[in-house]
Amino acid sequence: MGRLHQLLRNFKEKKASYREYYSDEMPKIKRRNEELGAYLEIFEELVETQVTELESGKRAGRLAGLPLAIKDIISIQGQRLTAASKILENYRAPRSATVVERLDREGAVFVGRSNCDEFAMGSSNENSAYGPAKNPFDLSRSPGGSSGGSASAVAGELCVGALGTDTGGSIRLPAAFCGITGLKPTYGRVSRSGVIAFASSLDQVGPMADDALDCAEILQVISGADPRDSTAMKVPVEDFVKACEPSPLKDLKIGYSPDYLESESLPEAYKKELQEAKRSFEKLGAKFYPMTLEHLPYSIAAYYIIAPAEASSNLARYDGVRFGHRTKAFESLKEMIVQSRSEGFGDEVKRRIMIGSFALSSGYFDAYYSKAQFVRSLIQKEFLEAFKKVDLLFWPSSPRPPFPLGKEEKDPLSLYLADIFTIPVNLAGLPALSFPIGYDEDSLPIGAQLIGRAFAEAELLRSLAAYERERPFEKRPLACH
Ligand code: GLN
Repeated sequence: MGRLHQLLRNFKEKKASYREYYSDEMPKIKRRNEELGAYLEIFEELVETQVTELESGKRAGRLAGLPLAIKDIISIQGQRLTAASKILENYRAPRSATVVERLDREGAVFVGRSNCDEFAMGSSNENSAYGPAKNPFDLSRSPGGSSGGSASAVAGELCVGALGTDTGGSIRLPAAFCGITGLKPTYGRVSRSGVIAFASSLDQVGPMADDALDCAEILQVISGADPRDSTAMKVPVEDFVKACEPSPLKDLKIGYSPDYLESESLPEAYKKELQEAKRSFEKLGAKFYPMTLEHLPYSIAAYYIIAPAEASSNLARYDGVRFGHRTKAFESLKEMIVQSRSEGFGDEVKRRIMIGSFALSSGYFDAYYSKAQFVRSLIQKEFLEAFKKVDLLFWPSSPRPPFPLGKEEKDPLSLYLADIFTIPVNLAGLPALSFPIGYDEDSLPIGAQLIGRAFAEAELLRSLAAYERERPFEKRPLACH
């Protein structure tokens, strides 16, 4: 059982009082955070208030007392919200995101805002203006990105669950690197209201936790339509927690691409663990079907046009007038805007704004942006076709082990390529889970993905919960104290 459900049970059976738990945990959380940099800020006062409310019964609900990490791109009313950027260094959220309101209503405790890449752009957390979070299994390595702080906080036991956002893999890559489970919901399953926009047609908030059941508990609370976000769709929210109860997988058809599972460039340990995981699903009754999705290799090229294009437009609002940092000395309005943005944004964000503006400019729109959208539609169709034959798809989360910190900052392209297994899913708007399947020879976690049809989160969670019973993931000792 994951730590989230373990703790829920302890609170319910009164094995731990809220006050005792937090008096014990907070010093540990602070100590570990000094090593991991998982939180950009720990909300000591807020935790104190929330624990008092729990004691008086004013704070209650299905998540009562659970310590959660919230990616610093999701608004919590009155708290700082920086998107790990200098440009929003002193910004405070005027209201809470819908997802935060929903967690709040169910009694969760917000321990802190977790580190991430600036405006969620990156795969290693090194684009944070406040320094990277670290991987709890090896402090010299990245926890992945962009939701690296959330993954580091869950794996390092600085919370029992977290919210991340996933535009091109930012929940699943860090989940894989840190040996935890992360779910990117279907586009439209979860409200984006109050979440800082990166690429609006791709962004989705999702849970990160120890296992399927723990993710299900968080997803249950945050899912559903929202009058404040017209893209959050009115579709039924199934009982995800119930979906995790034991059930056989005998009619389940899973597609896989032999190219992905046996690729030359994949580390040996990855291939071995992927085969083992596949065998476990087979033991449970699932049947595997090889299939090649031939357009997927083009997804990186399409994504790195579409996402920057949307970002360049979303980030236009940081102009020194309405939000965030304003330069000190300037002589004209134009100079003020240019200077404020030059000082406030980091390199990767600037790079994306430039690529995006270029791709949208009148002379190049057709050559780049329209083409990328066309490729996106081909990828969507290809998934639709695949899901006529199978129920789920299975492949790795990452082609590489967690990146060593400080080595790849100068080579953004090599990091972009590590998104190969996650990005296609965002382009098609589908739900996907990343879950731990073993370790490589350096004792670093390896992750795999299950991808489902639109709004098939219950099916994904059901399948993963069955897998976990068949092949439990054993947590190795952490490198942090
Ligand atoms: N690595 C991808 C990027 O840099 C994904 C980011 C994300 O999902 N937020 O854009």
